[in-house]
Amino acid sequence: MMLNKKSIDDLVVKGKKVLVRCDFNVPLQDGVITDENRIVAALPTIEKLIQEGAKVILCSHMGKPKGEPKPELSLAPVAKRLCEKLGKEVVFAKDDNVVGENAKKAVAQMKDGDIVLLENTRYRKEETKNEESFSKELGSLAEIFVNDAFGSSHRAHCSTVGVTKFVKESAVGYLMEKEINFLGNAVNNPERPFVAILGGSKVSDKINVINNLLEKVDTLIIGGGMAYTFAVAKGGKVGKSLLEEDKVEYAKQMMKKAEEKGVKFLIPVDTVITQEFKNDTPFKTVSTMNIPDDWEGLDIGEESRKIFAEAIQGAKTVVWNGPMGVFEFPNFAKGTQAVAEAMAQIDATTIIGGGDSAAAVNQLGYGEKMTHISTGGGASLEFLEGKELPGVAAVDDK
Ligand code: AMP
Repeated sequence: MMLNKKSIDDLVVKGKKVLVRCDFNVPLQDGVITDENRIVAALPTIEKLIQEGAKVILCSHMGKPKGEPKPELSLAPVAKRLCEKLGKEVVFAKDDNVVGENAKKAVAQMKDGDIVLLENTRYRKEETKNEESFSKELGSLAEIFVNDAFGSSHRAHCSTVGVTKFVKESAVGYLMEKEINFLGNAVNNPERPFVAILGGSKVSDKINVINNLLEKVDTLIIGGGMAYTFAVAKGGKVGKSLLEEDKVEYAKQMMKKAEEKGVKFLIPVDTVITQEFKNDTPFKTVSTMNIPDDWEGLDIGEESRKIFAEAIQGAKTVVWNGPMGVFEFPNFAKGTQAVAEAMAQIDATTIIGGGDSAAAVNQLGYGEKMTHISTGGGASLEFLEGKELPGVAAVDDK
């Protein structure tokens, strides 16, 4: 897919201050970064800008501090990790108001090729409301803005959208380009057969994705908690499994649409059920269409694993978003593992749409086997819905 937006290759950055919005929203445990994928994914853009002699000012959000400084959500650990990764000093501008005295002073002292990291943009309450005052402050630090935060590009915030109005020039970074090229090509220009797999807990989160993907795929596989709403739409009984009664009618419409379009629509034929929502509890496998009262489905069954794996084996393009079961419990992770394994084994374009499925694939050690693992769960879902991402739309056209 050709992205009609300015890229960093279209910019002349030597000696200029460039504000780069990254997605450094990494998981932290007691102040230690437990998964550095998003930091690693941001390096190509940062390294290119340093090499070209820009003054590189980085910003990002982390978690949800809800508009006030929360020390446990400081970007300080990211500054340290970035330093190690780049082998270069990263000056951390520790301002509770993000663009404060420290940031202004650090930026004023920058030489070509230097790096400054600002504090968590969501320390400011204006950020998530895209309010002009904070956008202006961010823009005042630099001449050029580069958006490389794919994982945040579905949100119209000051640091993804508003800031573009207060700089001379804006562009997308390498990670943003890569994400959009992989996801865009897979969905709009797929080598066939094209199989999409959706899982997770809620049909309501994925309504538009299902509808849009039915226009494009050869096979749509539905697993996870959302599958039970489809089982009920087919006349099944699902006990106390997750069910969205108000989406049963929609599920019927989607299955009808699939039939009209000649899309193969697979839901699990069997389900692993329990009486309690925990790992260490007795479980058994029954038909998805006939789950007893007081039992709930927590994973797809063995027969479904086989059927889904076979569908994946025949594919040339596979896009996956959402676990097949409660994979956080090892006893109910087999369906998610089976899909990851089937995707790892085939010679096809395999794309993981971020979030839980990306975590599962990495945990299982299949990361290297996939064509592309998106750094953005919510953003990749909105992309798969066919929506324009506000953080991309706001960037200057080529
Ligand atoms: P989502 O946030 O909608 O992508 O859903 C991810 C969550 O769905 C994970 O935390 C899973 O544990 C959960 N999940 C998947 N399958 C089931 C199920 N059968 N019952 C309850 N939760 C599920």
